[in-house]
Amino acid sequence: MLKGLKHRLYPTDSQKELIAKHIGCSRFVYNLALETKNTAYLGSKHNFSPFDLIKQLPNLKKECEWLKEVNSQSLQQSIQNMDIAFKKFFKGAGFPKYKSKHKGKQSFSIPQNVLVEDNKLVIPKFKKGIEIVLHREIKGTIKSATISVTPTGKYFVSILVDTNIENPIKVPIKEETTIGIDLGIKDFAVTSKGEVFENPKNLKKAQSKLKYTQRKYSKNKGKRTKKRLALIHEKVVNKRKDFLHKVSTKLIRENQTIALETLVVSNMVKNHNLAQAINDVSWSTFVTMLEYKADWYGKNILRIGTFAPSSKTCSCCGYINKELTLKDRSWTCPKCNSVLDRDVNASINIKSFALKNNLSGEHTLKNHNELPTLVGVMTYEALSPLGKG
Ligand SMILES: [Zn+2]
Repeated sequence: MLKGLKHRLYPTDSQKELIAKHIGCSRFVYNLALETKNTAYLGSKHNFSPFDLIKQLPNLKKECEWLKEVNSQSLQQSIQNMDIAFKKFFKGAGFPKYKSKHKGKQSFSIPQNVLVEDNKLVIPKFKKGIEIVLHREIKGTIKSATISVTPTGKYFVSILVDTNIENPIKVPIKEETTIGIDLGIKDFAVTSKGEVFENPKNLKKAQSKLKYTQRKYSKNKGKRTKKRLALIHEKVVNKRKDFLHKVSTKLIRENQTIALETLVVSNMVKNHNLAQAINDVSWSTFVTMLEYKADWYGKNILRIGTFAPSSKTCSCCGYINKELTLKDRSWTCPKCNSVLDRDVNASINIKSFALKNNLSGEHTLKNHNELPTLVGVMTYEALSPLGKG
């Protein structure tokens, strides 16, 4: 099982300088590799593999001697990361962007030779080690690390560890231990049991402060306002992550199976009224958290498509209410007279759609980590002499 944990770093001034060099050189190589790949493709339809580009690094170093000051594995990894961005693009993500010194994450990767000893992070080119604060002992084999610096000047390292423990076997999927979740804008999440997770108030307050400072900064680009803006932004991001961690851990601990709708966020963001709200509640981060925590604890996540009419279907009788608008918080089913809370009704539907889907397909897999076999997918009818076979 791979686990990533983030720790605070306290580099010395000279180490800060060397970290800045690593970030700068990694960005430089990333952008150059992206440019080369694009040009080759547009010009001659040639598709450079990361290996083709890595082979060119020694020649590049002859031209740009300063690249020799940094860990060459970090530069190689930069090219690999560019290629990963392309693979994500072919799976539907945005086209890979050039990295900027002023925008986006400021980081570099250390793909191997990462060591933590005596509260020091020891990596190539940093032989004396960088002071690290561990809130938990690292158990397992360290695979790789990424060092980043925030706009407010804080240093962090994300360490990827192989715990050498297999993921627990998934618990069986049963109707009575499954919940459905409807992710929303008014409330963050509502479950089929009627549990409501509101968006935290302290987050809203911090966000309005952020908006105010952003407006101030756009009028007068002062250095002090910029620093303040970065600090408030960091606070908002941290509070949001904290909230998402709390809710996802609670749901995974208390339930065996969680059914969710696959949300196409990019479609909804086009609607400007919703854009901010969707951004705020960070559904995709939340779903990612649920998925990896489910793997850690041997729980199940079931997904259904976005187009299942989860809000409009009566969860009692199946009647579809075509007139339902976003404003309607509750409605009465004209067919069976049930009074339905919009979000609870949706989450009950998500649960039953997901269970139905699951029963029609994956139920033959006892362990979802296993691939189906010919014997495993055979039905009992086929085994019986009276069956169709
Ligand atoms: Zn009904």
